[in-house]
Amino acid sequence: MPVRLKTVSRRMRSRAAGVSMKTPVRPEIQALSAYHVAEADGMVKLDAMENPYAWPACLPEALQQQWLEVLRQARLNRYPDPHAKRLAATIRDVFAVPAASDIVLGNGSDELIHLLITAVAAPDAVVLSVAPGFVMYPMIALFNRVKYVAVPLLAEDFSLDMAAMREAIEQYQPKVVFLAYPNNPTGNLFARQQVEEIIDRAPGWVVIDEAYAAFAADSFLSRLREFPNLLVMRTLSKMGLAGLRLGYLCAAPELVSELDKIRLPYNINSLTQLSAEFALAHREILDQQASALCRQRQQMMERLQDMPGLQVFPSQANFILFRTQHKDASGVFAALKQSGVLIKDLSATTESLKGCLRVTIGLADENEKFLAALEMALG
Ligand SMILES: *Cc1c(COP(=O)(O)O)cnc(C)c1O
Repeated sequence: MPVRLKTVSRRMRSRAAGVSMKTPVRPEIQALSAYHVAEADGMVKLDAMENPYAWPACLPEALQQQWLEVLRQARLNRYPDPHAKRLAATIRDVFAVPAASDIVLGNGSDELIHLLITAVAAPDAVVLSVAPGFVMYPMIALFNRVKYVAVPLLAEDFSLDMAAMREAIEQYQPKVVFLAYPNNPTGNLFARQQVEEIIDRAPGWVVIDEAYAAFAADSFLSRLREFPNLLVMRTLSKMGLAGLRLGYLCAAPELVSELDKIRLPYNINSLTQLSAEFALAHREILDQQASALCRQRQQMMERLQDMPGLQVFPSQANFILFRTQHKDASGVFAALKQSGVLIKDLSATTESLKGCLRVTIGLADENEKFLAALEMALG
């Protein structure tokens, strides 16, 4: 022990003296900053696409007790079921996953993105998506040393630039194409036929990321059999259970079995398995919440459209993207924060999101607070 302490203190001394230690960390990792989550204590939190209905407080008392009973049966001295078979069967049943498709579960869909990119990672591999798009695709590509190509969406409405997509697919022969459907951070659904064309043209896998399926009018889940290279990925996060960390990916069995080889054996913990099964057995509660949020989205959309100086983009998700046309977006963001409302400032992320802010749909009173604060900030 004393020896170790000495070593540490010598190291600390040399660091203090400005002697740089050689780090084994790759330069591109050193250049990153860790994923930043904004401080939100006591704020109206409308920045992260979370569901505002607190679980389990949103449940009737009797159901809360039932859930606790279920948790009491957990045996945390044992490893969880490595395949989470009961949970996978529940997901298949509740979401009508086609019988011919298999399911792989992830610790959030973020972990599934990791599995997918790890499976194809090679010096010449390319992962293709669109910009603006979901930030984790390029991040995870970088972690895996895979080249990431993002095709810009059309600036006026964030729809797919099909000419550019065709060209990029032809040129890069991507191993995986990721399309969030609806897209984050823009909220729109891409045209269905254009997505089909991309699936047809792509030489590798096409992952349709349906993180916002609960709020969207369309899905590719029922169409897995039509496209052998199609994978549909979803998550419980946006439908009310972000704290559980559970994502699922549905695809042809031969494809799922490859991903299963690189999945860490116990990636879905016992408490998540039990809680998710319980929650999905009461799916109607989650569905009612999603419907209520869609109604709130409609109201919010109308109120925002009525405010002068805003360009509001259509949304099939639980958030709305809008552009402040006359005021500096970061100033508006800061004013909202001053009023205790936290949303997301996207204005500095890419050229096409200049002036853009994104607000997550919350409870009626939270949305009211946001709208009032926004009116003040624009006023
Ligand atoms: C939120 C989000 C995810 C990640 O969800 P987790 O399951 O919480 O990891 C994946 N894709 C998109 C497009 C998202 O917006």
